[in-house]
Amino acid sequence: MPELPEVESFRRYLDKTSLNKTIQKVDVKNPEILQNVDKRVLKDKLEKHKIQCTKRHGKYLFAHLDSNYWLILHFGMTGKLVYFKNNDETPYYYRILITFNDESNLAFDDPRKFGKISLTAEMDDFIEEKKLGPDVYDIDFKTFKNILTSRRGAVKILLMNQHILAGIGNIYSDEILYQACIHPKTPVNTIDHQKIKEMYKIMKNVLQTVLNRQINHRKLPESFLIPHRIKNGRCPRSDTRLKTIKISGRTAYYCPLCQKSKFQ
Ligand SMILES: [Zn+2]
Repeated sequence: MPELPEVESFRRYLDKTSLNKTIQKVDVKNPEILQNVDKRVLKDKLEKHKIQCTKRHGKYLFAHLDSNYWLILHFGMTGKLVYFKNNDETPYYYRILITFNDESNLAFDDPRKFGKISLTAEMDDFIEEKKLGPDVYDIDFKTFKNILTSRRGAVKILLMNQHILAGIGNIYSDEILYQACIHPKTPVNTIDHQKIKEMYKIMKNVLQTVLNRQINHRKLPESFLIPHRIKNGRCPRSDTRLKTIKISGRTAYYCPLCQKSKFQ
């Protein structure tokens, strides 16, 4: 599922391929993925317009059009952007296809169809409406600390809660907690100042490292959990077999030796 680094890479990809080109046609193959906007309005605000710039907040990508609207993309489980020039490269599971007047195309490709597309006049209104927390790529330490120390509940749930911190999902919360040697079920209010500081630094480093490696998990350092986050995977630090637990319906991976639970 695309989390902050993946969505950030889609944003950079869109910037590289599709800025400042006049949109000739928008083909909405699956109108059911549109949220709070109908097909006709979406086409009207996009066609004959250009994407001028992009932004990202958490797992949402915002593309600003010269019609003064923002196109908003959420990639759900399997969404991605595919830019292509030849029609025979059209991805099979495209949900929306934007054709530019130079005949190149940008497709929102999404096999599982959990992605969402919407439109807004004000990006901040949308963020407020969705009640998104601060973006974790931009967040400063003080804000991060204040959020963590004012909450209760399992740290893993908190890290994945988009209303509290926007951008992290199941995979990167596992990585951050693994590197910080924190059991995923640790009550957040029991984590001390020093550990929160460490978590903050690790979080920034994990996101940046993944981005620097072009989101290619196979290129991540061996010391990361992600390359070992598989069935029968072993901890790269202690060689202990990794364990899984269900937290909020998601499967968390952790090392029972390095991330000892103090509360069981
Ligand atoms: Zn370990």
